[in-house]
Amino acid sequence: MSKHCIYPGSFDPITMGHIDIIQRLSAVFDQITVLVAQAPHKNYLFSSEERQSLVVSCLQGIKNVDVEIHQGLTIEYAQKVQARVIVRGLRAVSDFEYELAMANVNSKLAPEIETLIVFTRPEYGHISSRMVKEVAEFGGELKDLVPSHVAEALRMKIHHRSK
Ligand code: ADP
Repeated sequence: MSKHCIYPGSFDPITMGHIDIIQRLSAVFDQITVLVAQAPHKNYLFSSEERQSLVVSCLQGIKNVDVEIHQGLTIEYAQKVQARVIVRGLRAVSDFEYELAMANVNSKLAPEIETLIVFTRPEYGHISSRMVKEVAEFGGELKDLVPSHVAEALRMKIHHRSK
């Protein structure tokens, strides 16, 4: 059986923390699908196509990863491609309740699919896309939080938006 996992998220934008998780997954799974979520009620900074293309550009050199956009439930996508594993990252206790609730709902809806949790490395535990956007809004240093071309995309987006 091929080991295929789905790593879903907003990736608005992708950060060093996400990249670390994907690199680690690529060493233990045959195939990883990074699933860029498009939820109707969420207010994203980047469009789904921009978020997808930033993810792709950060993963050059990792052969067993593909990046797809999906509107709808992650389990539906997993069932469609016959993947049995959804992976989520856990940074701190504050992430726990939400992740537990989501994993429980998913396992009620699709008992054949497992949610696996990967713990963030301590050096990335403080990074979130929301925090990165706040730092960028105020012109702060983005080095160590996101790759340099993602920092540039953030600066451009914020500059154009404030015009
Ligand atoms: P969502 O809106 O679905 O939480 P995110 O893009 O914020 O989407 O996160 C996607 C996944 O990556 C989640 O499982 C989240 O816990 C994880 N994640 C976010 N930031 C980090 C980080 N710094 N280190 C490791 N995992 C992270």
